[in-house]
Order: sequence, then structure tokens, then C-alpha cells
Amino acid sequence: MRVCEIFRSVQGEGRLTGTPSAFVRASGCNLRCAYCDTPYASWEPEGEDLSVENVVEQVERIEADHVVITGGEPMIFVEVVPLSAALRARGWHITIETAGTLYLPVACDLMSISPKMANSTPPEDDRGWAARHDRARHAPEVIRRLVAEYDYQVKFVVDRPDDCAEIEAYLAAMPEIARKRVFLMPQGTTAAALAEKAVWIEAYCRERALAFCPRRQIEWFGPARGT
Ligand code: SF4
Repeated sequence: MRVCEIFRSVQGEGRLTGTPSAFVRASGCNLRCAYCDTPYASWEPEGEDLSVENVVEQVERIEADHVVITGGEPMIFVEVVPLSAALRARGWHITIETAGTLYLPVACDLMSISPKMANSTPPEDDRGWAARHDRARHAPEVIRRLVAEYDYQVKFVVDRPDDCAEIEAYLAAMPEIARKRVFLMPQGTTAAALAEKAVWIEAYCRERALAFCPRRQIEWFGPARGT
């Protein structure tokens, strides 16, 4: 599978925020979000093809109990099935971060799903990604299967107040998703942009019994690689 980085850091989002973890960043994605903060794993995928054994070996050198398989979109790589099985056999707690458009029968302790809403669509360009992105970004049958088979959390990126109505409509159409497992997080790549949006998103979450999700890795490290 193509991997652009393997590193130790601290989980900055969701219910495992603050947990020291090994991160495996798969490089490649079936979407192209306008706000993607890892373009080197989506728009212009970097990295090299590594064997499952090689990835396991590198993860095993990291001082942590949790491993996060992220991207890009890790679920485009069928090797994530044997990789997750091998890590599970070695006792790792496994989080998989996915946009929830593709299913694989992985070993996973926390399926961290970020469905992509209308605010993720990139501008039209000559590569045609806006249309491809919009055809692929919403896969309700995949989300239903993931939430039925795995412990999960669902994180939505919120940019404008209008996004909240779209998220509410999404949740109303997907009663399989428990509201208490839903996080709203601000869109932004700087601590200042996140702080500004956090004010109204946090208030909205309080009012509507949803969880606000800060993006601590950006506050702690900025939009840097290897974090
Ligand atoms: S799904 Fe994730 S990795 Fe892929 S383009 Fe969107 S934000 Fe980037």
C-alpha cells in the first residue's frame, strides 16, 4: 500500500483526543475535498509502496498502544485488511479514519467516520474532480454498514452556519447514527480560524446535544506534516 508517513504523535480529534498514538498515513484518496489539510495524501499523493510487513515493523518501533490508520483514504487499499489484522494480533488499539465511502472488513476498535458534506466540493477544474467528488462523497449504505459493525464516532467539518442544517438533515435520514457519537468540528488550518468558528459551533452543539470537537493537532502543531 502507498504510505506517505508513519510517525508518533497525539490524537488531536474525537473521543481519543490526547492519546499518544502511532499514525500510518495511507497516500491516495477517492475524494478531493476543497479544504483537505493533507493534500500530499490526496490531491498530489506522495509516498512509496510499502509491504504490510514493513508497515507493521515501523509501527512496532513506536512507543504507543494506539495506532491510527489515516489518509488520504485508507479504505482504498485492500492491504489495510491484513495490516489491521496483524496489528490487532500484536495488541494494538486500532482507529481507522475514513470518509465512509468504501467498505473493507478491517480489524478496528474505533471507526472514525468523517462524511463529506456540500462544503467539501472543490472548485471546478480541468481534472474534473468536482463532479467525481460529488458522485462519490455520499455513500449511505457504507456508513450504515460501518456503524452496524464497529464501535464508531462520526465527525462533521463545519464551515458556515448553513452547514448545520445540512448535517441535521443527514442525521435525520440516518437514524442508525447515535447523536451522542456525533462531533462537529470547525473547518480551518490555523488556530485563529478555528477559534473564530468555535464560538458559534460550540454554542450550536450545546443547544442541540451534539459534541463540539476542537482540532487540537492544529492548535498544538499547526498544519504540519508528521503531526
Ligand atoms: S477525504 Fe480526507 S484525505 Fe480525502 S480529500 Fe477529503 S479531507 Fe482530504
